[in-house]
Amino acid sequence: MSSSGEILDVLIVGAGNAALAAAVSAREQGARRVVALEKAPRALRGGNTHYSGGLLRIAFDRADDLRPLVPDAEREVPGFYAGVEPYPHRLFMADLLRVTDGRTDPELAELLIGRSYDTACWMARQGIEMEPAVSLSAVKVGDTFKWSPGAVIRARHEGVGLSAMWFRIAERQGVEVRYDTAAERLLQDRTGRVVGVAVRGPNGLEELTARAVVLGCGGFEANPEWRARYLGRPWDHAKVRGTRYNTGDGLRMAMEVGALPHGQWTGCHSTPIDADAPPHGDRKLTDKTNRLSYPYGVLVNSRGQRFFDEGEDFQFYTYAKLGGIILNEPGGIGWQIFDAKVTHLLEGRYQTGTPQVAHTLEALVEKLPLDRAACRRTLEAYNAAVTPGRFDPTVRDGLATRGLTLAKSNWAQRLDTPPFVAYPVTGGITFTFGGVRVTNRAQVVSMSWAVIPGLYACGEMVGGLFHGNYPGGTGLMSGAVFGRLAGAEAA
Ligand SMILES: Cc1cc2nc3c(=O)[nH]c(=O)nc-3n(C[C@H](O)[C@H](O)[C@H](O)COP(=O)(O)OP(=O)(O)OC[C@H]3O[C@@H](n4cnc5c(N)ncnc54)[C@H](O)[C@@H]3O)c2cc1C
Repeated sequence: MSSSGEILDVLIVGAGNAALAAAVSAREQGARRVVALEKAPRALRGGNTHYSGGLLRIAFDRADDLRPLVPDAEREVPGFYAGVEPYPHRLFMADLLRVTDGRTDPELAELLIGRSYDTACWMARQGIEMEPAVSLSAVKVGDTFKWSPGAVIRARHEGVGLSAMWFRIAERQGVEVRYDTAAERLLQDRTGRVVGVAVRGPNGLEELTARAVVLGCGGFEANPEWRARYLGRPWDHAKVRGTRYNTGDGLRMAMEVGALPHGQWTGCHSTPIDADAPPHGDRKLTDKTNRLSYPYGVLVNSRGQRFFDEGEDFQFYTYAKLGGIILNEPGGIGWQIFDAKVTHLLEGRYQTGTPQVAHTLEALVEKLPLDRAACRRTLEAYNAAVTPGRFDPTVRDGLATRGLTLAKSNWAQRLDTPPFVAYPVTGGITFTFGGVRVTNRAQVVSMSWAVIPGLYACGEMVGGLFHGNYPGGTGLMSGAVFGRLAGAEAA
């Protein structure tokens, strides 16, 4: 084991959104030698952040507050501000509490939401460009776009752009990024203070010493053994939507020095994706395998039965739990069925898939590898249960089925207009919810409920925020808030 002898100011483990926000923040607060370790080779750098949609959930009081983030919005989307509803702190909190069944850690949630706007402005000042998230969350009504609450802004060129911008900014600020370098173990002095990291890199095994260490190296979503251990069946064979490098290393290293686990270790973010998606994220396809327009259609399993209230809520409040629900159906597979009344509402991402198409519902069912007789009965019963009313994709329109054991609560229209299409879907894992406990200064807390001196955590590694479900766009915001905080405190 070699050691360079140099003492770094801040050593960051990881090079995604959280880690690079921490690195840039540490430099801003005066740390001179800041090094970020990236386990991946340069060509595969950037973690889940690269694969993400770049969506940022931000609390704001007036549509006008978004101007510093998207100064060109009116030019890109005429009438932009007129279509945006304010999303104050209280609504963000209400959403987070609702989707997590009240289990989100109140102190962490307060920090995340309370600092979301200020942190987004900080990102913009650092040089992170943003744009209206048109293809992700906007529905065109007449001449204006209506937006899903709080999910209005994304990084320019999505996750690919966000990751590239963070690397550019970090390098410009003098942060050194070491590729192909995996952190393996935390180093402690006799007082228990974390004083560095043992790494495996291009030069073999090495010990790097630093005044503070920030862990921003993701969850355990890409580790099948840990998925089996904590999430159980059938998660060991789930497709991974993003990076193959988030294998729980940071969580293991932190727990080896006594870090206190926090949050839902049996939970994860998992979405409906194309059943033919590759086993790990594809650098070019990124998040385009997502299939999130199910609120406008009907979802059946291989038994030909519905198993989820497709219209429970807007997609951004249900998609992160639906992947797991599909994965737990027989064969881990389902079909999203739409008619021609709504196909213009399907997200552009559906174009990356090949649907079955037919001119009658019966002919469509004939083409699907499922229990066809049961599926025909399901669709007939669904069509018979639809009630009259006005369909409106911009609000929870209350257009619900009547008399079904499993209702569709909103956006329920008859499947009656050809052509009909069916998209095969499975559940892909995005990231895991279990993490370590951190203080409101991003310090890692020990099993003795004291802070572990010299150790900070951010991003997916922070446990406690999400349980069972998650409001879309919160992962990157959490990474930025806790990354910025961890970097500043470590400096
Ligand atoms: C397909 C997809 C779409 C998504 N879309 C969105 C979205 O639109 N909005 C949103 O808010 N969230 C989205 N998410 C979630 C979001 O991407 C993550 O929450 C966020 O990127 C996590 O950031 P992070 O910095 O914690 O982790 P990552 O970005 O995953 O970074 C972890 C880093 O640690 C490195 N690493 C791992 N182990 C080691 C080790 N031992 N040593 C050194 N380095 C290591 C990895 O290589 C990587 O660089 C999406 C995720 C996916 C996969």
